[in-house]
Amino acid sequence: SRELRWLLRRADLAMYEAKSAGRNRCVEFDERMEVELGKRSALETEIRHGILAGEFIPHFQPIVELASGEVKGFEALARWQHPAKGLVAPADFLEVAETSGLIGEISMSVMQQALEAARSWPANLTIAVNLSAVQFKDPMLAQRLLRILTVTGFPARRLALEIPESCLIGGREHALGNIQRLQAQGIHIVIADFGTGYASPTHLQALPFDRIKIDHSFVRLLESDEQGDALVQAIATLGKGLSIPLSAEGIETAAIQSKLKALGCADAQGWLFAKALSPEQVDQMYPDDDCVQDQPVAKAK
Ligand code: C2E
Ligand code: MG
Repeated sequence: SRELRWLLRRADLAMYEAKSAGRNRCVEFDERMEVELGKRSALETEIRHGILAGEFIPHFQPIVELASGEVKGFEALARWQHPAKGLVAPADFLEVAETSGLIGEISMSVMQQALEAARSWPANLTIAVNLSAVQFKDPMLAQRLLRILTVTGFPARRLALEIPESCLIGGREHALGNIQRLQAQGIHIVIADFGTGYASPTHLQALPFDRIKIDHSFVRLLESDEQGDALVQAIATLGKGLSIPLSAEGIETAAIQSKLKALGCADAQGWLFAKALSPEQVDQMYPDDDCVQDQPVAKAK
């Protein structure tokens, strides 16, 4: 039966490969699948250790209001402060963190640290945090998020949640319920990466989103491509029709900035303005604002 287990395991691996390649296909087992699985599970173990050791921290990319050129807030982006590899970006851990379900813990910890850091910054700044679609499987999601607001004393109206459009598709009633509960508390809901998946305008209508964020893959198309212009124009028209303000990410050039401004985009982020900054770098932007906070702050556990 050892041989049978060996055989089944390999069949399993081939099946997973077939599923992840888009289902309904035949895949033959290959040694590389075993190697890949080993790598993934090693990374998963390392991520678990990293979570326990507090190695996941937020960095902060400024969000600029295009009309005034002022920084209106920051998006918190997870970074893994790895003892050997240095600062690791989400591209190198996000997928495994999502499939293993560990992304929930990472996002919550990053959010809590971000809101704690923001206490010593000006009280008009907003903080945006990212959620993955898999996090909506957690029936406690809304409660967990609201608890972090309580613990940090951060006002709900200054928090924005960036939600991937895949949350909206196909029988995600409980995701919508969660989102509505959070929105009722005053939290802003941003639909991130709109247009990259299969969401349609109907999905936008289902909820009064506070913002549509144009994905950087579309923003990049504005550089040269006329079809890119048409695409972003279509999203802008949709936003205008539904009275949802637009923001954009991945702005690298002044030319793209002015195109987006002309399309009515309210705010933007990108390397043209700044890359994601460490908490200390943001502290240095606001040296005089130590401890101005509009609410007493509970001690975080
Ligand atoms: P995102 O939310 O779309 O974030 C934008 C990404 O584009 C960030 O990558 C940012 O560093 C990068 N970026 C910003 N400006 C520019 C630019 O001008 N040019 C280019 N080429 N890139 C730019 P990052 O930090 O590697 O994050 C990747 C993704 O990881 C994020 O995409 C977000 O979906 C996810 N993520 C980050 N932190 C968290 C988290 O705490 N929880 C969850 N669930 N997901 C997170
Ligand atoms: Mg984002």
